[in-house]
Amino acid sequence: MGMKRVVVVGGGPAGAATAKALADKGCDVQLFEAYPHPDKIHKNAPKAYVIALGQRGQDGLQRSTGIDPLQIPNSIVSTHMVRHPKNNVRKHDKTPSLIIPRKVLAAQVLDAAKAAGVQINFEYRLMDIKFDQQIAIFEGHGGVVTKHVPYDLLVGADGSKSKVRSLLNQNVNEFKVMRTEEDSMEYQVAVIPPPFPFSGMPETSVHAWNDKKYNSICLAFPLANNGGLLFAIVYPEGKLSEFKEKHRIDGTGYDDPLFHLMPDLTDVVKEEFVKQLEAGEPANGGTCVWCNSLGSPKHGVALVGDSGHGMWPSLGQGANCALESAAVFSETVGDIVAGKVTLAGKSWGEVVVEEFNKRRHADALAAVDLTYGGIGARKSRGRNNAPLSYKAQVVGMMLLNKLTLGIVPKPALIRLMMGQPVPYSTARKWNFIYEKLVCLGAVLMITVALVLYKF
Ligand SMILES: Cc1cc2nc3c(=O)[nH]c(=O)nc-3n(C[C@H](O)[C@H](O)[C@H](O)COP(=O)(O)OP(=O)(O)OC[C@H]3O[C@@H](n4cnc5c(N)ncnc54)[C@H](O)[C@@H]3O)c2cc1C
Repeated sequence: MGMKRVVVVGGGPAGAATAKALADKGCDVQLFEAYPHPDKIHKNAPKAYVIALGQRGQDGLQRSTGIDPLQIPNSIVSTHMVRHPKNNVRKHDKTPSLIIPRKVLAAQVLDAAKAAGVQINFEYRLMDIKFDQQIAIFEGHGGVVTKHVPYDLLVGADGSKSKVRSLLNQNVNEFKVMRTEEDSMEYQVAVIPPPFPFSGMPETSVHAWNDKKYNSICLAFPLANNGGLLFAIVYPEGKLSEFKEKHRIDGTGYDDPLFHLMPDLTDVVKEEFVKQLEAGEPANGGTCVWCNSLGSPKHGVALVGDSGHGMWPSLGQGANCALESAAVFSETVGDIVAGKVTLAGKSWGEVVVEEFNKRRHADALAAVDLTYGGIGARKSRGRNNAPLSYKAQVVGMMLLNKLTLGIVPKPALIRLMMGQPVPYSTARKWNFIYEKLVCLGAVLMITVALVLYKF
């Protein structure tokens, strides 16, 4: 096999990890990132934002790049999830995850990619793709330069608003975006410096408050190196602007999140919080994207990460799923390079995309479904609360799990939410079956009750 030319569009977690993995496998890789530096990535996201990487994301990073996630600087292993219900009784779960600033994760993997021989081009934005000639066209430094780059394989890792995906959708018949759904939430963050405001709590815990009034959620993540806590408040679109307006009129605008929902906070913390909320602007939530394929085999174009399976942040799966996709992609290329998958007269790029799609598409679709319709989404994304059938199925399975001393596993959806790497398609399938069984059970019980009542 001659040296294959790979173009990666996007320097986020998925793009950087894929680029490093493919360079390690002997490909000639060029990566193009629209922003000038990892610090500047994500126009809409606050600079400080952190990612909670569960076991799935950590495994994905290690499998694709060989990087040990626990060695990444400025990251912290959170030991507990502390939920603060309304009466302020706190509940601890042990759901350890790695809290990493997004810019640190991207910068670390980009550095490793560079060391592996990837040519990294910052401030280059993809403008067009000539699919028939396999040439990608980039504009550099705000339009000062244009580059035409030929490729054997193009990896679109340019996030949930992917240009690669939209070009495929416009120009390639066999590729279709089946559906997109914008999240109806917005969020703002504030970094509160030490001292740690919750006495008696582990300082490495993640905190969560559920605001039933607005179906919204507030979170606090620990920051490494005694960096304090990163708070994120998530509300239905328009609510944060309402809070701001009210704050300017009578100073009570932030009472709902800061005084009613999080009464534990001290006055000093609240004051700092309000200052930062007033100085910043709300950012949008995510987009769910369902595609009929993770790229176009015929044109040697693959979609890896949010570009192929954008999802709402309802279950905290985005980066976890993106890194797992990067791992599946790199293992697919590894198998082809090792001759475990034959080309059978097709081009190398075609076989890579075809095989990747075979291995990953069902799981990717299931992941999007879960974040769109799962309990987390219904509860915390401005939709109605989870319907009774969802609650019943989960409670029923949890009871069964307790009664059988763990022989019957916890529901797959719950295991997924606890950060375990249960396959998305398994969680989706069981979620669906539970739902049907519970509905069937309810219909049977009502029928029996009616029959008994009549006779
Ligand atoms: C506030 C917030 C909190 C989150 N928390 C979590 C969490 O706790 N856990 C979790 O798993 N996920 C979380 N996510 C989701 C996670 O950040 C994303 O799912 C993840 O970053 C996806 O990685 P990606 O590489 O596919 O895409 P992205 O990270 O979006 O990277 C895409 C890259 O492509 C570049 N790009 C875009 N267009 C072009 C173009 N035309 N040309 C060149 N480059 C381009 C962008 O600049 C960007 O750098 C969170 C997201 C947000 C916004």
